[in-house]
Amino acid sequence: MKRLIILGAPGVGKGTQAKRLQEDFGWVHVSTGDMLRDAMREETSLGNEAKAYIEKGELVPDEIMVGLVGNRLNQEDCLRRGFILDGFPRTVPQAEKLDDLLERLDLELDGVVSIDVSREEIVRRLSQRVVCEKCGYVITTKEDLEEGQKCPSCGGRLVRRKDDEPETIRHRLEVYEEQTRSLIRYYEDRNLLWVVDGLGTVDEIYTKVLSSLGLSPEK
Ligand code: AMP
Repeated sequence: MKRLIILGAPGVGKGTQAKRLQEDFGWVHVSTGDMLRDAMREETSLGNEAKAYIEKGELVPDEIMVGLVGNRLNQEDCLRRGFILDGFPRTVPQAEKLDDLLERLDLELDGVVSIDVSREEIVRRLSQRVVCEKCGYVITTKEDLEEGQKCPSCGGRLVRRKDDEPETIRHRLEVYEEQTRSLIRYYEDRNLLWVVDGLGTVDEIYTKVLSSLGLSPEK
């Protein structure tokens, strides 16, 4: 069982790698972006509150995020199977709150994998990305599927995320560089950080992620 964090700018493929780790090892993939988008779709009070921040490419306030993640990690599946946090923490205060939370639950973090990709490559990837509005399946145009077509997984409609418009992408990257870069330092200082080069195919990056964690694909 492992408790991991996967870090990296928007569009580096954190979600894709985390999903593979979940499939292969059973650790629960906890994506705060997915949780917020589900809440927006269901129009819960959390979703309504988060919407304005997300659509502008701003971060949702720490108090909201810490409460959300605290509740999730305290659920039976995460406690029993371990987890991969994707999208949280994004700021040093969130990382400190996560440390407090894990201490209260008497749990330890096993490692933080940071996926590194250049800014130009990220802008290129995000401006090509489409997602299923129903199930959240992510597609890059490499698969030749575009906005308006059907999701290969559930048949829902493929759309562009509102926050994947070029202006918002630029803003999200600035927010990332301002806030999240200091997290890398935070985990480096605790000897928990592994940096993985995020260029290459999904399989190639996955192999690098596994080797950084000292794991083999055979489980
Ligand atoms: P993501 O799918 O991880 O890129 O998240 C999409 C958006 O959700 C972000 O641009 C933020 O507005 C919000 N969000 C997700 N996780 C967090 C977090 N840990 N702290 C603050 N905002 C978040």
